[in-house]
Amino acid sequence: MSDIRKIVILTGAGVSAESGIDTFRAEGGLWEQHRVEDVATPEAFERDPDLVLRFYDMRREAIQTKAPNAAHLALARLDAEWAGDLLIVTQNVDDLHERAGARRVLHMHGEHLSVWCTACDARSRWTETLIERPPCPECGKPALRPDIVWFGEMPYRMDDIFAALEDADLFVSIGTSGAVYPAAGFVRNARELGAATLELNLEPSQGTGWFDEARHGPATQVVSDWVEEILGPPR
Ligand SMILES: [Zn+2]
Repeated sequence: MSDIRKIVILTGAGVSAESGIDTFRAEGGLWEQHRVEDVATPEAFERDPDLVLRFYDMRREAIQTKAPNAAHLALARLDAEWAGDLLIVTQNVDDLHERAGARRVLHMHGEHLSVWCTACDARSRWTETLIERPPCPECGKPALRPDIVWFGEMPYRMDDIFAALEDADLFVSIGTSGAVYPAAGFVRNARELGAATLELNLEPSQGTGWFDEARHGPATQVVSDWVEEILGPPR
């Protein structure tokens, strides 16, 4: 670890699973009894906005009842104590990294606690429901949608992510299936650019062969162990 200065971490559903947050089982699969294409695409929002808004209202309410787990807390400790560069790129749309105390977090797939105004393009923090079509805090128009990257939409801040991967000495993938692009390709980008690569996941992911090293087990265990290896035991 002595030559490691810049770390990029990718986190996915496996980090939040032990906090009781349900996610897509697989693309094309079911999510809380809904088909992905009925609730998580721009076409679905156009076809049946009430269904989509009600679905995300429920998800937004649900995540606020969940708490960060030991994996979130370990990564927040790394963020607080790691003096070098660090970027936690998360595919998760919950706010558990932040509630654990992490600051250097990038939500590539958006956030449940954010809304996006399709009239004025403003993004606002949001903890309430959207089904009543409340006015945008910025422009007043009832044009808010979940600030979530739906299937078929471009993930956020890809330029920032690739810039960080380019500089990284170490890339760590935590709790992701390795099945959803573009995130599934980050390990190959990182490798080609010379970074060491580590997978921490419940089981070998689809991309596990691309990593220099892979450790398998529950996130609360393997992430906590890895952070302690880097920083030493908590003071
Ligand atoms: Zn607006």
